[in-house]
Amino acid sequence: MLYQEADRVAFYGGASRRDSDVAGHFQSYNPSNDEPICRIAISSHRTIDHAVLAAQAAFPSWSATPPVERARILQRAVALLRERNDQLARVETLDTGKPFSETSTVDIVTGADVLEYFANLVASGGLNGESFRLRPTAMVYTSKEPLGVCVGIGAWNYPIQIALWKSAPCLAAGNCMVYKPSEFTPLHAEYLANIYKEAGLPPGVFNVVYGAGDVGAYLTSHPLVAKVSFTGQVSTGKKVAGTAGGGMKYVTAELGGKSPLIVMPDADLERAVDVAMMANFFSTGQVCTNGTRVFVPREMTESFERALLEKMQYVRAGDLFDAATNFGPLNSREHWKKVTEYVRYGIETDKARLLCGGTDAPAELPAELRKGYWVRPTVFADCTDDMRIVKEEIFGPVMSILPYAGVDEAVTRANTTHLGLAAGVVGRDVGQCHSTVSRLEAGITWINTWGESPAEMAVGGWKQSGVGVENGRRGLDAWVRNKSTLVELESSTATVFSKL
Ligand code: NDP
Repeated sequence: MLYQEADRVAFYGGASRRDSDVAGHFQSYNPSNDEPICRIAISSHRTIDHAVLAAQAAFPSWSATPPVERARILQRAVALLRERNDQLARVETLDTGKPFSETSTVDIVTGADVLEYFANLVASGGLNGESFRLRPTAMVYTSKEPLGVCVGIGAWNYPIQIALWKSAPCLAAGNCMVYKPSEFTPLHAEYLANIYKEAGLPPGVFNVVYGAGDVGAYLTSHPLVAKVSFTGQVSTGKKVAGTAGGGMKYVTAELGGKSPLIVMPDADLERAVDVAMMANFFSTGQVCTNGTRVFVPREMTESFERALLEKMQYVRAGDLFDAATNFGPLNSREHWKKVTEYVRYGIETDKARLLCGGTDAPAELPAELRKGYWVRPTVFADCTDDMRIVKEEIFGPVMSILPYAGVDEAVTRANTTHLGLAAGVVGRDVGQCHSTVSRLEAGITWINTWGESPAEMAVGGWKQSGVGVENGRRGLDAWVRNKSTLVELESSTATVFSKL
């Protein structure tokens, strides 16, 4: 058992965890078998205030620490993350229900990569401003200044990765953070806080508070907070952005999607099916960028469905620590209810053709896992744009196949949505793929692949899928504000108030 302690409470400012006030408790569960893992103490308003004050107190010294020294500390955290990869992956598997084969190769790895990237970036001039001669006697220089106390609020699908994607540029830029994990996946947060501490991060620079939406809302409206970086649903993102905007705080919002994947008429069938499966069943479909609307040329649908059914046998549910398992349960009972209701709606009301899957648990599951939040990977065929399962984000392993007649038609239909997170194209003629992708309204696009999101690549949604970007050089700019200084070099300045 990984968790011997009954309670986990807020971590902030170097204060003893036992000093924190609690406002009740919530229980975390293992999604694969519905067994309780541990009880988490909800941070009271007093505790949250202390965390914010600890961050505020740490800010002057941390922001004045030279970037290269900040980077050294963050690099030590990267080394610890990599050293403890499997231990952290076990925590993530227990908490999220994702197979160990996935958490041990993706979740911590991609988080550590981003921390390394931003540490390197600030150590190599990423925070440098610009300077220019305005006229012979005057110059202008700019600097990228940290914002102050920033808040990170995470979703439950990539807990430690999200925590790292937010804290890495935040801390590298010289800010301090108060982070709230999702109440559904809180376990990683204290491990990460301890790693930062062990790496030498001064007290108060990274703080964790626990709780549900009300804790997030309290943080978002806190007067001492300069920025909120949020990942979650569109509806929550609107509330967060509204509150933060009301307080003139900076906001980054990484929200939901209903992303299209266009299979071009010349696409290699095997490749198209592989990409479609990655875009729908990886992480049991609980990925914001999922390509759930799969547009297939009408004349290709039969062979596409046949090849897809053939490959569905390689989706393997089972013991999450078995190396062969590549498909886990959904993250929570609440989410299981939502996803199975969508599948039922697709069958009974949308009347889409169920190619495979459904609301039952996978047949191969052993008896001891049957209480978990499992669903089968599901594919609906002959879908139309007006169906609810095609229009709304399900956030589960549910693919919709949409036959189309021509690429122009597919592009128009792909863009007919208020969301614009991701999009992709699969085809042999890469020139055609490029021109098609250029017409798709989305912030993250892929050609002949799906899902890879390296540290160097800025990612963020268009339309209602979000505001701003994470990662890449642009991702650092989201954590700084600009200061411009005009220097007059002339010893005396003529003004309109000079003597005539
Ligand atoms: P939610 O919007 O339900 O929750 C996200 C976080 O916000 C949680 O920590 C939640 O707390 C908190 N929260 C809830 N209400 C408020 C509020 N009023 N003010 C401040 N914080 C609040 O999203 P999910 O956790 O269900 O995550 C799934 C969603 O996230 C999907 O839509 C998915 O597409 C999106 N997502 C987007 C990504 C992107 O990069 N674009 C990446 C990953 C996911 P609690 O849950 O503890 O109640």
